[in-house]
Amino acid sequence: MTTTVNAMAATSATEPLTKTTIERRDVGPHDVAFDIKFAGICHSDIHTVKGEWGEPEYPVVAGHEIAGVVTEVGSDVTKYKVGDHVGVGCFVDSCRECDNCKAGLQQYCTGEGGMIGTYNATGKDGTPTYGGYSQAIVVDENYVLRIPDSIPLDKAAPLLCAGITLFSPLHHWGAGPDKKVAIIGLGGLGHMGVKIAHAMGAEVTVLSQSLKKMEDGLRLGADEYYATSDEDTFTKLAGKFDLIVNTVSANLDLAAYMGLLATDGTLVEVGAPEKPMELPFFPLAAQRRSLSGSMIGGIPETQEMLDFCAEHDITPEIEVIAADYVNEAYERVLASDVRYRFVIDTSTLQ
Ligand code: NAP
Ligand code: ZN
Ligand code: ZN
Repeated sequence: MTTTVNAMAATSATEPLTKTTIERRDVGPHDVAFDIKFAGICHSDIHTVKGEWGEPEYPVVAGHEIAGVVTEVGSDVTKYKVGDHVGVGCFVDSCRECDNCKAGLQQYCTGEGGMIGTYNATGKDGTPTYGGYSQAIVVDENYVLRIPDSIPLDKAAPLLCAGITLFSPLHHWGAGPDKKVAIIGLGGLGHMGVKIAHAMGAEVTVLSQSLKKMEDGLRLGADEYYATSDEDTFTKLAGKFDLIVNTVSANLDLAAYMGLLATDGTLVEVGAPEKPMELPFFPLAAQRRSLSGSMIGGIPETQEMLDFCAEHDITPEIEVIAADYVNEAYERVLASDVRYRFVIDTSTLQ
């Protein structure tokens, strides 16, 4: 027995997303079922749907920034009860046995197959996983997050990917007072990076393609804002930053950005461009700089991020949309015309 729910699905790389129905499994002893209220649109949804990271398994029901209200819990569930506000991010399970899983770094699970993605993956029951562009979902309680009461569900959704993807590297590389941090790209991820790094006490600079969004950037917590289309930016800021987080979805001239790092500085790549990244030797080695990457965050750190955001009153800037606006929203994300996260009101899937 399963439950049928409405969803928005992609059936190919080129056709628009359309309304469909999917099945959700019955609630097992360790499962939490919840009504999805809101689902954020991450640029990763678009990369996946368009086959930019390889051919996905169609139909794809994307969405890994999911927030909702618990409707049923399994007999052995201890963490959640009906009515709780909960969320799910980029994965819904993992091996639970490898060192990383045991350490709460489920996103880096080294067990067979690694973490199980919220969509475009195969669940432990052998059925395809479908994401948040849908009315309801059933997830093991260990992969569900608690949304603090002070964060409304529409604004909570983007924290489950955009929020944690920036919180984790900022935390890991010690963003804080006396640290100069730059965020490349003021989109969904980038604007969360500005807010979180500012709340951690760092001096924050935005590196955007133009100065169009400068007023927003400064309001969100940036101390400085520069256009990367201006060559002078790279001379002015040479050797300045302890930490740079690159959130750009396209390939950039990494060598130019490495030059902005101080001695021993680190550039963390979180943007996931389609083509391989290129970096010559000297801008990297000259100042003992590091190039690193980071992927979302584990369950404990995601909960820590949600609680941090509640404590510091941090929420994303969102534009709530109806489900049938998804295709237009995708076009606007691709045109960098998003301020700063589209969130689907899933009640419009009725
Ligand atoms: P987004 O909202 O589209 O933001 C990306 C921003 O990058 C844009 O707003 C734009 O900012 C800048 N940009 C876009 N195209 C550019 C270009 N050709 N040249 C220079 N700058 C450009 O996307 P997002 O949802 O934040 O996601 C960003 C990337 O992170 C995607 O590749 C996504 O797949 C990846 N991602 C990775 C993780 C992870 O765990 N590592 C998690 C989530 C997403 P400006 O207008 O300010 O220049
Ligand atoms: Zn994402
Ligand atoms: Zn594992």
